[in-house]
Amino acid sequence: MLVSVALPLPLYQPLTYTVPDDFAERVAVGSRVVVPVRGRKEMGFVVGDGARRDGVTPKPLIAAPDATPVIDPALLSVCKWVAEYYVAPLGVVLRTALPAALTGADSPTPGAKTRRLAVLKRQLPTLIERETTFARAKRQREVYDLLESLGGSAPVELLQERMAFSPAVLKAMAGRDIIEIREEVVSRDPFAARGTPADAKLSPTAPQRHAIDALSRGEPGKVFLLHGVTGSGKTLVYLDLLRTLVNERGKTAIVLVPEIALTPQTVSRFRAVFGDKVAVLHSALSDGERYDAWLALSRGEKRIAVGARSAIFAPLQNLGAIIVDEEHETSYKQGEAPRYHAREVAIVRAREQGAVVVLGSATPSLESWTNATSGKFQLLTLPDRVGGGRLPNVRVVDMRIPKGQPPPKPATTSEALARLVLSEPLEDALRVRLERKEQSILLLNRRGYSAFIQCASCGAVEVCPNCSITLTYHRSPERLVCHYCQHAEEPRTKCRECGGVVLRQRGLGTQQVERILAERMPAMRIARMDVDTTSGKWAHADILDRVAQGDVDVLLGTQMIAKGLDFPNVTLVGVVDADVGINLPDFRASERCFQLLSQVAGRAGRGPKGGDVFIQTRVPGHHAVVCAVEHDYERFVKQELTGRHDPPYPPMLRLVNVVFSGVREEQTMQLSVDSAEQLRAMLARGAADVAIVGPAKCPIERIKNRWRWHFMLKSANARQLTKVARYLAEQLPVPGKGQLRVIVDRDPVSLL
Ligand code: ADP
Ligand code: ZN
Repeated sequence: MLVSVALPLPLYQPLTYTVPDDFAERVAVGSRVVVPVRGRKEMGFVVGDGARRDGVTPKPLIAAPDATPVIDPALLSVCKWVAEYYVAPLGVVLRTALPAALTGADSPTPGAKTRRLAVLKRQLPTLIERETTFARAKRQREVYDLLESLGGSAPVELLQERMAFSPAVLKAMAGRDIIEIREEVVSRDPFAARGTPADAKLSPTAPQRHAIDALSRGEPGKVFLLHGVTGSGKTLVYLDLLRTLVNERGKTAIVLVPEIALTPQTVSRFRAVFGDKVAVLHSALSDGERYDAWLALSRGEKRIAVGARSAIFAPLQNLGAIIVDEEHETSYKQGEAPRYHAREVAIVRAREQGAVVVLGSATPSLESWTNATSGKFQLLTLPDRVGGGRLPNVRVVDMRIPKGQPPPKPATTSEALARLVLSEPLEDALRVRLERKEQSILLLNRRGYSAFIQCASCGAVEVCPNCSITLTYHRSPERLVCHYCQHAEEPRTKCRECGGVVLRQRGLGTQQVERILAERMPAMRIARMDVDTTSGKWAHADILDRVAQGDVDVLLGTQMIAKGLDFPNVTLVGVVDADVGINLPDFRASERCFQLLSQVAGRAGRGPKGGDVFIQTRVPGHHAVVCAVEHDYERFVKQELTGRHDPPYPPMLRLVNVVFSGVREEQTMQLSVDSAEQLRAMLARGAADVAIVGPAKCPIERIKNRWRWHFMLKSANARQLTKVARYLAEQLPVPGKGQLRVIVDRDPVSLL
């Protein structure tokens, strides 16, 4: 018997192996197999029958660890689509789709019966402690290290599969009180702890009812766009649909959220209604826990998978619905190979398994909106906030210095300095909230203390030596940091260009706003939420818990705080600088800005007290700002679409971004120029309706010491685009082995 095996290597074609008789019963399409390749052993996946090629004698495979396949035919066919469309090796896609515990070269056997858990009881933080404790027990030391690396606990069978030790080792460790053996998985569950939301008792409003009915009658494979303003009760629609599908019809479901850590409220609402049926796939799970969740889903013990992007590959049979909440979010697109977009995979998977897709958003992506207006998706609308709640009043605060008025002198008093950041109306509004014991949210989509340092004499700006990115000033500890490569340096006292000594901080970051708030309103209890304050596993949940308990007056943060939060006592939202990002050289810059403003504004006034929003900006006439102020999504879309016609950009057509990078600029540029030329000649012969734009330097021309050039492929013809993209990925000759890299990014969400 010959089988075709996909490997998680940069190999676009599967390889053929023979199956020794001993394994014949264990090997089927979807099985894992260990095969020899390039003198090594690799874990691969059987993806079909093998074909004999002339002059090649296939090698026999070495092992078949599973009694049953790890991936079913429907999911395999979805993975094949991902590999084809996003131009990635199938083995790499399969590795992404399966839990890490199953894709290493040595991994546990699914189908084991016992669920015993080894849990560390004693911490041995120093090397000395470990060496003395395990002086004569090398195996125990290995078990200890593995357990620690898995987050302190792991199923016993997983340990045994990884390390093949005798049970006596664990017994001895338990006897010494280093570990204990428990019968069940015990891990902190941040979602169960939260108060149980009252969704079970709510009865849907008429628009919610209408949406739920349409969804539960949806034909297999149908895609719905649920456009509901913030606070319109989209989550209740999801919950009710799943009650019908999962509880009454015995189906299963996948619920995708942009980022688990940022949406604990949404997740806990699913947990509250469906309890044990839900598996929450969050990033804090250890490999062992993730594997357990995967097993429970594939055996049907859990019926709803809630998770970020990769949960789209959850091993569920009998799938009834896939929900993509906040479908416009860019985090649904993976930034490394395979560069898939979970929303697109959801649509393909639903078609394959006969499920319905619900794409929910207050600010749908232009792509989805266009599909809905053209009739490809069915549009469902929740036009109002539930319970008679009104959308908040939004006010624009113009931060420009009026013409004819002298520019303010370099700020001498803290008052003047603060005014550049915090306008009087916004500050007054914050004070009122403090008095009334209501809460506020302040958005500044830039972390750090101040965006950059600029020389007052020559205008030079401090940039990263490795990336062409301005360095951000951080106050504690005092450092200039690159947000791309983590490069950090001491702030200088003199300009590196002209030697000038007056270095001014320009722009501002969350830390600076925090300091200004604290100076002006010392009684204010401020919680800052950005990448710098949320490095711990549970940091997001802890900050949000404090807000929910009323221990925080102002939640200040980056775009992290704009999403999904539902705190009824938040009656004020302030956007410190709406212009951040609005001028980025990316055709989606305005769309991003509009979405962010609308989403964060939607956090205000979700309770009976109503709410106000202040948007500080220097471009009050920009359509992204104007339409966000008026809560006018459709007007925004109309204006924005006009701008995407000439030159055409998605959703008018499709894009592939081809990025070349290398340590030497000349070489990198040359490769992009040569490739574009060669491709143009080919396209001219083939008469394909694919256009090439570029090559040009990427807007961020250098990242981590690599120069970057790119060109774009544009076409309305998806199939042609696949062909050209495949050619580029698989056959383009790239000189200078490993020095130069080509990345093919289909449907890119960022062009920077
Ligand atoms: P969205 O996701 O559209 O922003 P949510 O689903 O978070 O909105 O709902 C906003 C608030 O309204 C929540 O607190 C929710 O409990 C409440 N809610 C939703 N539907 C109803 C309903 N039918 N009756 C009363 N309250 C509701
Ligand atoms: Zn850098």
